Amino acid sequence: MLRETVRDFAEKELMPLAAQLDKEHRFPAEQVKKMGGLGLLAMDVPEKYKGAGLDYLAYSIAVEEISRGCASTGVIVSVNNSLYLGPILKFGSEEQKHQWIAPFTSGEKIGCFALSEPGNGSDAGAASTVARLDGDEWVLNGTKAWITNAWDASATVVFATTDKSLKHKGISAFLVPMPTPGLSLGKKEDKLGIRASSTANLIFEDCRIPKANLLGQPGMGFKIAMQTLDGGRIGIASQALGIAQAALDCAVDYAEKRMAFGSPITKLQAVQFKLADMAVALEGARLLTWRAAMLKDNGKPFTKPVLLAVTPRRSWACCPPWSSPEFSTGCNQGERGCCSWLAPSSGLSAQLL
Ligand SMILES: Cc1cc2nc3c(=O)[nH]c(=O)nc-3n(C[C@H](O)[C@H](O)[C@H](O)COP(=O)(O)OP(=O)(O)OC[C@H]3O[C@@H](n4cnc5c(N)ncnc54)[C@H](O)[C@@H]3O)c2cc1C
Repeated sequence: MLRETVRDFAEKELMPLAAQLDKEHRFPAEQVKKMGGLGLLAMDVPEKYKGAGLDYLAYSIAVEEISRGCASTGVIVSVNNSLYLGPILKFGSEEQKHQWIAPFTSGEKIGCFALSEPGNGSDAGAASTVARLDGDEWVLNGTKAWITNAWDASATVVFATTDKSLKHKGISAFLVPMPTPGLSLGKKEDKLGIRASSTANLIFEDCRIPKANLLGQPGMGFKIAMQTLDGGRIGIASQALGIAQAALDCAVDYAEKRMAFGSPITKLQAVQFKLADMAVALEGARLLTWRAAMLKDNGKPFTKPVLLAVTPRRSWACCPPWSSPEFSTGCNQGERGCCSWLAPSSGLSAQLL
Protein backbone atom coordinates (compact mmCIF):
# COMPACT_ATOMS: atom_id res chain seq x y z
CA MET A 1 0.00 0.00 0.00
CA LEU A 2 2.73 2.46 1.06
CA ARG A 3 5.01 1.31 -1.77
CA GLU A 4 2.17 1.66 -4.29
CA THR A 5 1.24 5.16 -3.09
CA VAL A 6 4.83 6.43 -3.18
CA ARG A 7 5.58 4.68 -6.48
CA ASP A 8 2.52 6.24 -8.04
CA PHE A 9 3.56 9.69 -6.77
CA ALA A 10 7.16 9.22 -7.96
CA GLU A 11 6.13 7.99 -11.42
CA LYS A 12 3.72 10.87 -11.95
CA GLU A 13 5.44 13.75 -10.17
CA LEU A 14 9.18 13.00 -10.10
CA MET A 15 10.23 10.68 -12.92
CA PRO A 16 9.14 12.98 -15.77
CA LEU A 17 11.13 15.86 -14.22
CA ALA A 18 14.20 14.10 -12.81
CA ALA A 19 16.60 14.65 -15.72
CA GLN A 20 15.57 18.31 -16.09
CA LEU A 21 15.79 19.08 -12.36
CA ASP A 22 19.23 17.51 -12.30
CA LYS A 23 20.39 19.44 -15.35
CA GLU A 24 19.11 22.78 -14.01
CA HIS A 25 20.24 22.19 -10.38
CA ARG A 26 16.61 23.01 -9.46
CA PHE A 27 15.18 22.21 -6.01
CA PRO A 28 11.81 20.44 -6.41
CA ALA A 29 9.97 22.78 -4.01
CA GLU A 30 6.45 21.96 -5.19
CA GLN A 31 7.06 18.20 -5.08
CA VAL A 32 8.65 18.45 -1.61
CA LYS A 33 5.48 20.17 -0.33
CA LYS A 34 3.33 17.43 -1.85
CA MET A 35 5.51 14.79 -0.19
CA GLY A 36 5.06 16.64 3.10
CA GLY A 37 1.30 16.26 2.60
CA LEU A 38 1.80 12.52 2.13
CA GLY A 39 3.77 12.28 5.39
CA LEU A 40 7.05 11.43 3.64
CA LEU A 41 9.14 14.19 5.20
CA ALA A 42 8.81 12.97 8.80
CA MET A 43 8.03 9.30 8.54
CA ASP A 44 9.04 7.94 11.96
CA VAL A 45 8.12 11.13 13.83
CA PRO A 46 5.16 10.56 16.21
CA GLU A 47 1.89 12.21 15.27
CA LYS A 48 2.05 14.51 18.32
CA TYR A 49 4.92 16.32 16.58
CA LYS A 50 3.01 16.28 13.27
CA GLY A 51 4.87 13.27 11.83
CA ALA A 52 3.50 10.20 10.06
CA GLY A 53 4.09 7.91 13.05
CA LEU A 54 5.49 5.06 10.90
CA ASP A 55 8.84 3.26 11.22
CA TYR A 56 12.20 2.89 9.49
CA LEU A 57 11.10 -0.05 7.34
CA ALA A 58 8.35 2.16 5.91
CA TYR A 59 10.90 4.96 5.53
CA SER A 60 13.29 2.68 3.61
CA ILE A 61 10.53 1.61 1.22
CA ALA A 62 9.44 5.22 0.67
CA VAL A 63 12.97 6.56 0.05
CA GLU A 64 13.61 3.72 -2.42
CA GLU A 65 10.49 4.58 -4.40
CA ILE A 66 11.16 8.33 -4.32
CA SER A 67 14.75 7.76 -5.49
CA ARG A 68 13.58 5.44 -8.25
CA GLY A 69 11.77 8.51 -9.57
CA CYS A 70 14.44 11.11 -8.73
CA ALA A 71 17.69 10.43 -6.86
CA SER A 72 18.05 14.11 -5.84
CA THR A 73 14.62 14.15 -4.24
CA GLY A 74 15.54 10.91 -2.47
CA VAL A 75 18.53 12.52 -0.76
CA ILE A 76 16.54 15.68 0.13
CA VAL A 77 13.92 13.51 1.86
CA SER A 78 16.50 11.25 3.46
CA VAL A 79 18.46 14.13 5.00
CA ASN A 80 15.33 15.78 6.41
CA ASN A 81 14.05 12.51 7.95
CA SER A 82 17.24 10.91 9.26
CA LEU A 83 19.89 13.56 9.62
CA TYR A 84 17.87 16.60 10.64
CA LEU A 85 14.75 15.29 12.43
CA GLY A 86 16.40 12.06 13.65
CA PRO A 87 18.80 13.58 16.23
CA ILE A 88 16.21 16.10 17.49
CA LEU A 89 13.67 13.33 17.99
CA LYS A 90 16.17 11.21 19.90
CA PHE A 91 18.11 13.82 21.88
CA GLY A 92 15.94 16.96 21.92
CA SER A 93 13.99 18.28 24.90
CA GLU A 94 10.20 18.34 24.67
CA GLU A 95 10.31 22.07 23.93
CA GLN A 96 12.94 21.58 21.21
CA LYS A 97 10.86 18.84 19.58
CA HIS A 98 7.86 21.14 19.28
CA GLN A 99 9.93 24.05 18.02
CA TRP A 100 12.35 22.27 15.66
CA ILE A 101 10.41 19.23 14.45
CA ALA A 102 6.77 20.16 13.87
CA PRO A 103 7.40 22.96 11.29
CA PHE A 104 9.71 20.60 9.34
CA THR A 105 7.19 17.85 8.67
CA SER A 106 4.91 19.44 6.07
CA GLY A 107 7.46 20.17 3.33
CA GLU A 108 7.17 23.94 3.91
CA LYS A 109 10.55 23.85 5.66
CA ILE A 110 13.39 21.37 5.46
CA GLY A 111 16.50 20.93 7.57
CA CYS A 112 20.13 19.95 7.13
CA PHE A 113 22.94 18.32 9.11
CA ALA A 114 26.36 19.92 9.31
CA LEU A 115 29.17 17.66 10.48
CA SER A 116 31.80 17.46 7.70
CA GLU A 117 34.38 20.19 7.27
CA PRO A 118 36.82 21.09 4.50
CA GLY A 119 39.61 19.40 6.49
CA ASN A 120 37.77 16.34 7.82
CA GLY A 121 35.00 14.00 6.72
CA SER A 122 35.34 10.39 7.90
CA ASP A 123 37.43 11.65 10.84
CA ALA A 124 34.49 13.59 12.28
CA GLY A 125 36.10 13.83 15.73
CA ALA A 126 38.70 16.23 14.29
CA ALA A 127 36.12 19.04 13.92
CA SER A 128 37.70 22.51 13.96
CA THR A 129 34.43 24.49 14.14
CA VAL A 130 34.17 25.89 17.67
CA ALA A 131 31.39 27.13 19.94
CA ARG A 132 32.00 29.22 23.06
CA LEU A 133 29.48 30.30 25.63
CA ASP A 134 29.14 34.08 26.00
CA GLY A 135 26.49 34.93 28.57
CA ASP A 136 23.21 33.50 27.35
CA GLU A 137 24.48 32.77 23.86
CA TRP A 138 26.70 30.30 22.05
CA VAL A 139 29.07 31.89 19.52
CA LEU A 140 29.94 29.63 16.58
CA ASN A 141 32.96 29.98 14.28
CA GLY A 142 34.13 27.65 11.52
CA THR A 143 33.17 26.15 8.17
CA LYS A 144 31.10 23.06 7.47
CA ALA A 145 31.47 21.46 4.04
CA TRP A 146 29.35 19.41 1.63
CA ILE A 147 26.09 20.15 3.44
CA THR A 148 23.08 18.64 1.66
CA ASN A 149 19.98 20.90 1.48
CA ALA A 150 22.15 23.89 2.52
CA TRP A 151 20.58 26.41 0.15
CA ASP A 152 17.02 25.28 0.80
CA ALA A 153 17.12 24.61 4.55
CA SER A 154 15.44 26.62 7.30
CA ALA A 155 17.52 25.09 10.11
CA THR A 156 20.56 22.93 10.70
CA VAL A 157 21.89 20.58 13.33
CA VAL A 158 25.53 21.62 13.57
CA PHE A 159 28.47 20.10 15.45
CA ALA A 160 31.17 22.22 17.07
CA THR A 161 33.93 21.78 19.62
CA THR A 162 33.14 23.26 23.03
CA ASP A 163 36.21 21.79 24.83
CA LYS A 164 39.19 21.03 22.63
CA SER A 165 41.12 19.28 25.41
CA LEU A 166 38.52 16.48 25.45
CA LYS A 167 38.98 15.78 21.70
CA HIS A 168 35.86 14.02 20.29
CA LYS A 169 34.25 14.06 23.75
CA GLY A 170 34.43 17.86 23.62
CA ILE A 171 32.12 18.16 20.59
CA SER A 172 28.56 19.43 21.12
CA ALA A 173 25.48 19.64 18.86
CA PHE A 174 23.47 22.81 18.24
CA LEU A 175 20.26 23.87 16.56
CA VAL A 176 20.70 26.87 14.28
CA PRO A 177 17.91 28.65 12.38
CA MET A 178 18.58 29.54 8.75
CA PRO A 179 19.10 32.23 7.67
CA THR A 180 20.61 33.82 10.76
CA PRO A 181 23.21 36.59 11.25
CA GLY A 182 26.78 35.27 11.19
CA LEU A 183 25.90 32.26 9.01
CA SER A 184 26.53 32.47 5.28
CA LEU A 185 26.33 29.90 2.49
CA GLY A 186 29.11 28.90 0.11
CA LYS A 187 28.50 28.41 -3.59
CA LYS A 188 26.43 25.42 -4.69
CA GLU A 189 28.81 22.53 -5.44
CA ASP A 190 28.66 21.57 -9.11
CA LYS A 191 28.31 17.85 -8.50
CA LEU A 192 28.33 15.04 -11.05
CA GLY A 193 24.79 13.99 -10.09
CA ILE A 194 21.94 14.50 -7.57
CA ARG A 195 22.18 18.16 -8.55
CA ALA A 196 18.59 19.11 -7.69
CA SER A 197 19.73 18.72 -4.10
CA SER A 198 21.91 21.68 -3.12
CA THR A 199 25.28 20.95 -1.50
CA ALA A 200 27.30 23.84 -0.07
CA ASN A 201 29.52 25.09 2.74
CA LEU A 202 27.99 26.67 5.86
CA ILE A 203 30.29 29.43 7.09
CA PHE A 204 29.90 30.52 10.73
CA GLU A 205 31.48 33.86 11.67
CA ASP A 206 30.61 34.93 15.22
CA CYS A 207 27.20 33.36 14.71
CA ARG A 208 25.22 33.82 17.93
CA ILE A 209 22.47 31.45 18.97
CA PRO A 210 20.55 31.17 22.26
CA LYS A 211 22.05 28.98 25.00
CA ALA A 212 18.89 26.86 24.83
CA ASN A 213 19.81 25.73 21.29
CA LEU A 214 22.28 23.15 22.61
CA LEU A 215 21.02 19.68 21.58
CA GLY A 216 21.59 17.11 24.34
CA GLN A 217 24.33 17.76 26.89
CA PRO A 218 27.68 19.53 26.28
CA GLY A 219 30.16 16.97 24.90
CA MET A 220 27.45 14.64 23.54
CA GLY A 221 27.87 15.84 19.96
CA PHE A 222 30.07 13.03 18.68
CA LYS A 223 27.71 10.38 20.08
CA ILE A 224 24.73 12.21 18.57
CA ALA A 225 26.49 12.43 15.19
CA MET A 226 27.50 8.76 15.09
CA GLN A 227 24.04 7.50 16.08
CA THR A 228 22.44 9.85 13.57
CA LEU A 229 24.70 8.63 10.77
CA ASP A 230 23.63 5.03 11.44
CA GLY A 231 20.01 6.03 10.74
CA GLY A 232 21.16 8.17 7.80
CA ARG A 233 22.83 5.13 6.25
CA ILE A 234 19.45 3.36 6.06
CA GLY A 235 18.15 6.35 4.07
CA ILE A 236 21.16 6.45 1.75
CA ALA A 237 21.18 2.66 1.26
CA SER A 238 17.49 2.99 0.31
CA GLN A 239 18.31 5.84 -2.07
CA ALA A 240 20.90 3.60 -3.75
CA LEU A 241 18.27 0.83 -4.05
CA GLY A 242 15.93 3.23 -5.83
CA ILE A 243 18.67 4.33 -8.24
CA ALA A 244 19.61 0.69 -8.92
CA GLN A 245 15.96 -0.34 -9.42
CA ALA A 246 15.47 2.52 -11.89
CA ALA A 247 18.62 1.40 -13.73
CA LEU A 248 17.40 -2.22 -13.85
CA ASP A 249 13.96 -1.11 -15.11
CA CYS A 250 15.66 1.01 -17.74
CA ALA A 251 17.94 -1.84 -18.82
CA VAL A 252 15.08 -4.36 -19.07
CA ASP A 253 12.95 -1.92 -21.03
CA TYR A 254 15.78 -1.25 -23.45
CA ALA A 255 16.73 -4.92 -23.82
CA GLU A 256 13.11 -5.87 -24.57
CA LYS A 257 12.81 -3.25 -27.29
CA ARG A 258 16.27 -3.40 -28.84
CA MET A 259 16.30 -5.72 -31.85
CA ALA A 260 19.49 -7.43 -33.04
CA PHE A 261 19.72 -10.26 -35.57
CA GLY A 262 15.95 -10.43 -35.88
CA SER A 263 14.94 -10.60 -32.19
CA PRO A 264 15.03 -8.52 -29.01
CA ILE A 265 18.38 -8.74 -27.22
CA THR A 266 16.59 -10.21 -24.18
CA LYS A 267 16.59 -13.46 -26.16
CA LEU A 268 20.40 -13.58 -25.93
CA GLN A 269 21.52 -15.64 -22.98
CA ALA A 270 24.51 -13.39 -22.19
CA VAL A 271 22.12 -10.44 -21.83
CA GLN A 272 19.74 -12.51 -19.69
CA PHE A 273 22.66 -13.38 -17.38
CA LYS A 274 23.51 -9.71 -16.94
CA LEU A 275 19.93 -8.76 -16.12
CA ALA A 276 19.68 -11.68 -13.69
CA ASP A 277 22.92 -10.63 -11.96
CA MET A 278 21.55 -7.10 -11.54
CA ALA A 279 18.26 -8.38 -10.11
CA VAL A 280 19.98 -10.72 -7.63
CA ALA A 281 22.45 -8.04 -6.45
CA LEU A 282 19.60 -5.58 -5.99
CA GLU A 283 17.37 -7.96 -4.04
CA GLY A 284 20.29 -8.92 -1.77
CA ALA A 285 21.03 -5.25 -1.06
CA ARG A 286 17.32 -4.61 -0.39
CA LEU A 287 17.15 -7.42 2.17
CA LEU A 288 20.29 -6.12 3.91
CA THR A 289 18.74 -2.65 4.10
CA TRP A 290 15.41 -3.91 5.41
CA ARG A 291 17.22 -6.02 8.02
CA ALA A 292 19.02 -2.93 9.33
CA ALA A 293 15.74 -0.96 9.34
CA MET A 294 13.89 -3.70 11.23
CA LEU A 295 16.67 -4.01 13.81
CA LYS A 296 16.48 -0.24 14.37
CA ASP A 297 12.69 -0.41 14.63
CA ASN A 298 13.03 -3.12 17.28
CA GLY A 299 15.59 -1.18 19.32
CA LYS A 300 18.37 -3.69 18.50
CA PRO A 301 21.97 -2.72 17.60
CA PHE A 302 22.19 -2.08 13.85
CA THR A 303 25.55 -0.34 13.29
CA LYS A 304 27.19 -3.39 11.69
CA PRO A 305 24.11 -4.46 9.67
CA VAL A 306 23.69 -0.95 8.26
CA LEU A 307 27.35 -0.84 7.23
CA LEU A 308 26.77 -4.12 5.36
CA ALA A 309 23.67 -2.58 3.79
CA VAL A 310 25.50 0.48 2.40
CA THR A 311 28.42 -1.53 1.02
CA PRO A 312 26.84 -2.72 -2.28
CA ARG A 313 26.56 0.94 -3.40
CA ARG A 314 30.32 1.11 -3.71
CA SER A 315 30.60 -1.79 -6.14
CA TRP A 316 27.68 -0.42 -8.17
CA ALA A 317 29.40 2.96 -8.39
CA CYS A 318 32.81 1.56 -9.33
CA CYS A 319 31.60 -1.10 -11.75
CA PRO A 320 27.85 -0.81 -12.26
CA PRO A 321 26.41 -3.82 -14.05
CA TRP A 322 24.21 -1.47 -16.09
CA SER A 323 27.27 0.32 -17.48
CA SER A 324 27.70 -2.37 -20.12
CA PRO A 325 27.42 -0.97 -23.65
CA GLU A 326 24.29 -2.99 -24.51
CA PHE A 327 22.30 -1.01 -22.01
CA SER A 328 23.99 2.34 -21.66
CA THR A 329 24.14 3.26 -25.33
CA GLY A 330 20.39 3.04 -25.82
CA CYS A 331 19.45 4.24 -22.38
CA ASN A 332 21.62 7.33 -22.71
CA GLN A 333 19.82 8.36 -25.85
CA GLY A 334 16.37 7.71 -24.35
CA GLU A 335 13.92 10.57 -24.04
CA ARG A 336 13.65 9.88 -20.32
CA GLY A 337 17.40 10.34 -20.26
CA CYS A 338 17.60 7.89 -17.37
CA CYS A 339 21.31 7.19 -17.66
CA SER A 340 22.05 10.90 -17.72
CA TRP A 341 21.09 11.16 -14.04
CA LEU A 342 21.24 7.52 -12.88
CA ALA A 343 24.91 6.78 -13.49
CA PRO A 344 26.37 9.93 -11.84
CA SER A 345 23.80 9.69 -9.03
CA SER A 346 24.92 6.16 -8.32
CA GLY A 347 28.52 7.37 -7.96
CA LEU A 348 27.53 10.24 -5.68
CA SER A 349 25.31 8.02 -3.54
CA ALA A 350 28.34 5.82 -2.86
CA GLN A 351 30.23 8.77 -1.38
CA LEU A 352 27.53 9.80 1.08
CA LEU A 353 27.88 8.70 4.71
C1 LIG B 1 26.99 14.72 -2.33
C2 LIG B 1 27.47 14.77 -0.92
C3 LIG B 1 26.63 15.21 0.10
C4 LIG B 1 27.08 15.29 1.42
N1 LIG B 1 26.23 15.74 2.39
C5 LIG B 1 26.71 15.92 3.65
C6 LIG B 1 25.86 16.49 4.66
O1 LIG B 1 24.67 16.77 4.45
N2 LIG B 1 26.40 16.71 5.89
C7 LIG B 1 27.69 16.40 6.20
O2 LIG B 1 28.08 16.64 7.33
N3 LIG B 1 28.51 15.84 5.26
C8 LIG B 1 28.04 15.60 4.00
N4 LIG B 1 28.86 15.06 3.03
C9 LIG B 1 30.24 14.73 3.37
C10 LIG B 1 30.44 13.23 3.53
O3 LIG B 1 29.85 12.81 4.72
C11 LIG B 1 31.95 13.03 3.48
O4 LIG B 1 32.34 13.20 2.13
C12 LIG B 1 32.35 11.68 3.97
O5 LIG B 1 32.21 11.63 5.36
C13 LIG B 1 33.80 11.36 3.58
O6 LIG B 1 34.64 12.41 4.00
P1 LIG B 1 35.71 13.06 3.01
O7 LIG B 1 35.04 13.36 1.71
O8 LIG B 1 36.38 14.17 3.74
O9 LIG B 1 36.74 11.91 2.73
P2 LIG B 1 37.94 11.48 3.68
O10 LIG B 1 37.45 11.21 5.06
O11 LIG B 1 39.06 12.44 3.54
O12 LIG B 1 38.32 10.12 3.01
C14 LIG B 1 39.11 10.07 1.80
C15 LIG B 1 39.24 8.61 1.40
O13 LIG B 1 39.88 7.86 2.44
C16 LIG B 1 39.07 6.77 2.84
N5 LIG B 1 39.15 6.60 4.28
C17 LIG B 1 38.97 7.53 5.25
N6 LIG B 1 39.11 6.97 6.46
C18 LIG B 1 39.37 5.67 6.26
C19 LIG B 1 39.61 4.56 7.13
N7 LIG B 1 39.61 4.70 8.47
N8 LIG B 1 39.86 3.36 6.56
C20 LIG B 1 39.88 3.22 5.21
N9 LIG B 1 39.64 4.22 4.33
C21 LIG B 1 39.40 5.42 4.86
C22 LIG B 1 37.64 7.17 2.45
O14 LIG B 1 36.81 6.04 2.24
C23 LIG B 1 37.87 7.95 1.17
O15 LIG B 1 37.97 7.06 0.07
C24 LIG B 1 28.43 14.92 1.72
C25 LIG B 1 29.27 14.45 0.70
C26 LIG B 1 28.81 14.38 -0.60
C27 LIG B 1 29.75 13.88 -1.68
